[in-house]
Amino acid sequence: NSVLSMTFQRQGDETENLLRPQRLKDFQGQQKLKDNLSVFITAARERNEALDHVFLIGPPGLGKTTLATIIANEMNAEIRMTSAPALDKPKDLAGILTNISENSVFFIDEIHRLKPALEEMLYIAMEDYEIDWVIGQGPAARTMRIPLPRFTLIGATTKAGQVSSPLHSRFGITCHIDFYNENELSGIILRSSGIVGTEITPDAVSLLARCSRGTPRIANRLLRRLRDFADVIGTGIVDVDIVHEGMKRLGIDLNGLDEQDRNILRTIIEFYDGGPVGADTLSISVGEASESLEDFYEPYLIQKGYLKRTPRGRMVTRKAYELLGIPCERKMDE
Ligand code: ATP
Repeated sequence: NSVLSMTFQRQGDETENLLRPQRLKDFQGQQKLKDNLSVFITAARERNEALDHVFLIGPPGLGKTTLATIIANEMNAEIRMTSAPALDKPKDLAGILTNISENSVFFIDEIHRLKPALEEMLYIAMEDYEIDWVIGQGPAARTMRIPLPRFTLIGATTKAGQVSSPLHSRFGITCHIDFYNENELSGIILRSSGIVGTEITPDAVSLLARCSRGTPRIANRLLRRLRDFADVIGTGIVDVDIVHEGMKRLGIDLNGLDEQDRNILRTIIEFYDGGPVGADTLSISVGEASESLEDFYEPYLIQKGYLKRTPRGRMVTRKAYELLGIPCERKMDE
């Protein structure tokens, strides 16, 4: 079973890489962000300097890793990629920093999970392009300053609030990546269907865009599943009927909500009278890790106006009662 799921995972990863745009012009949507980045990249390239450090903030699957790769490509620079949980000891970080080349890009995903000792090393590296390295122990210990090449750090996070302010303030460029609108997602679906060679009708593109939770990764995944349905139970073309049938079978409604989304809203209504309920209690009640509840489920439910975060916990809105067809007897202060 685990071998099978690993195989699926790998196939998923491979297609994800295949669909990943390599240049800014192929990155769909986020126009303002792209316009600004394009100016900063051009300016740095013309001055033959490393780009200033970039902080990417946004929910999973919206293109943070993709943007990091694009920035490196546009800068014609090498890229080293890692994720904060993979950096355990100071020597892990020092090992990378002392081996990167001039003007290259260093990408750290989930940067809010960086350990404090490593974070301190990173401050100095980002600001002064050097690190302090302690040799020996006890009274004989000495600190050596090691110079580093100029580099661009790209830090990505789903939780900007958990990044300390000294680290935050050392990024010269901050990019917030928002959920994509239906037009932008339609552009992504069209591009991806061209790459994987799936025929899809214009109506089906729009409908799929609506069901994709504002998220390119989900749009691409759903497109792959619909291609399966079209090949096995249809005529090989993804049309509106295939999207409707596929969404029904996958438990996704026309607002892009899946079974767990509806389960979260129903649980708050039925067990907690609409809320407020604390995040930890909710996570146990719905059987979902608090990390994925906070990073994945809540941002979209909040953006779509079904859920609110209040100081006393999570609350559903009237719209959530309407979605689930449950009469709302409470007075809601919306
Ligand atoms: P995570 O934080 O979960 O790793 P992420 O924000 O880094 O997610 P990516 O891995 O960059 O997300 O993107 C997921 C997939 O969505 C990629 O395969 C990429 O092809 C596609 N994608 C993301 N953004 C765009 C975009 N703006 N245009 C086209 N495709 C995109």
